Amino acid sequence: MRVVIVGAGPAGLNLAYLLKCRVPAIEIDVLEQNAPDATFGFGLVFSDRALDFLAQNDPETLQAIKPALEHWRDSILYLNGREIRIDGQGYNSIGRLRLLQILRERAASVGIVPKYNHVIDDLDALGPADLIVGADGANSIVRRSREADFGTGITLLTNRFAWYGTTKRFEALSHTFVQNELGTFNAHHHRHAPDMSTVVIEMDETTYFRAGFETMPLDRAQALCERIFADMLQGHKLISNKSIWRQFPKITNKRWSVGNRVLLGDALHTAHFSIGSGTRLALEDAVALADALAGHKGDVPPALAAYQAQRAPVLGKLVTAANTSADWYEHFTDHMKLPPMEFALGYITRTGRVDFERLRKSSPEFIAAYEASKAS
Ligand SMILES: Cc1cc2nc3c(=O)[nH]c(=O)nc-3n(C[C@H](O)[C@H](O)[C@H](O)COP(=O)(O)OP(=O)(O)OC[C@H]3O[C@@H](n4cnc5c(N)ncnc54)[C@H](O)[C@@H]3O)c2cc1C
Repeated sequence: MRVVIVGAGPAGLNLAYLLKCRVPAIEIDVLEQNAPDATFGFGLVFSDRALDFLAQNDPETLQAIKPALEHWRDSILYLNGREIRIDGQGYNSIGRLRLLQILRERAASVGIVPKYNHVIDDLDALGPADLIVGADGANSIVRRSREADFGTGITLLTNRFAWYGTTKRFEALSHTFVQNELGTFNAHHHRHAPDMSTVVIEMDETTYFRAGFETMPLDRAQALCERIFADMLQGHKLISNKSIWRQFPKITNKRWSVGNRVLLGDALHTAHFSIGSGTRLALEDAVALADALAGHKGDVPPALAAYQAQRAPVLGKLVTAANTSADWYEHFTDHMKLPPMEFALGYITRTGRVDFERLRKSSPEFIAAYEASKAS
């Protein structure tokens, strides 16, 4: 059996490793457009809850990445200069590059070395394959090759974001919200290594056009962001890595496979970065697909049907939470008008998965401060 995996991101590398472990006789080619250490983005967050799910679904990957994780207990909001700490949330982070290195080394341990610098622009050139896997991210060529058959839906959110790094070491998972004469901005920021942090800067569409970001050269936009977030960066610079202004795409597919083509990870579904789950979902999709293929002894059609039937209900809940969170960010300018503690409560309960009583247990210091603010 020959499987061709397009894309050596988290989904593709994990699938290659797991499939080879479960079905040693299988022939697997992994094709990646970039060089081995060229990637986009900086750090990735996994909540403690996400790691609990990973512990159930993919314990081996969790063990492999654990030593490289940064961990912290609290998240901190900065609203126009005021600090609000939300205790007891529990988050972890890893550099995307480090994660890919770990997954690549593990794939190599079972004899799988991706072919890098290998752009796929024509699936017919892949040669005979029993299965073609689209692990090629949000702009997947495997999906685009049969988009009508997959039943693809793509909606662009209106906010604009750019993904930067910085040498400023942040203490916790933090969000800074700023209003100034140019408009409203927010930054999601956290460290992903002892000496490196991630900064995702986001603004609403009105601000994007009014402040001139649409036509501003990228180096000037970066310098402007450094000024807007000067208090947060404390003299450190932003670092760019293909850091362009983008609109987040919400991607869905009615059918996860068409013939011998199947999707996983961001090619199949995106989950807004504000809930930090896209990578974990991509890793878990790989487990589900590898299990389905191994369970059906390589009989592709029933394996692909089982993959969607078993994974879709689990995935649906997370994607709904991600969409609800994305919607909160699409209206963050309005939320910023709330009193600070109401803003913070709205932020932490935005997915609808955490209610007040649960917060009372998990975040007693925050709830005490919230109740004190109501009483005063
Ligand atoms: C700003 C931002 C912040 C994020 N933060 C988090 C976070 O904190 N936590 C989290 O869990 N997730 C986060 N995510 C989401 C996460 O990055 C994705 O969900 C995850 O990378 C999906 O993995 P994947 O393997 O499916 O796709 P990708 O990581 O996109 O990998 C796809 C691979 O396919 C390759 N490829 C694409 N097209 C071709 C082609 N034609 N030929 C050959 N190769 C190709 C690409 O080069 C790439 O290496 C964030 C995303 C964004 C945009």
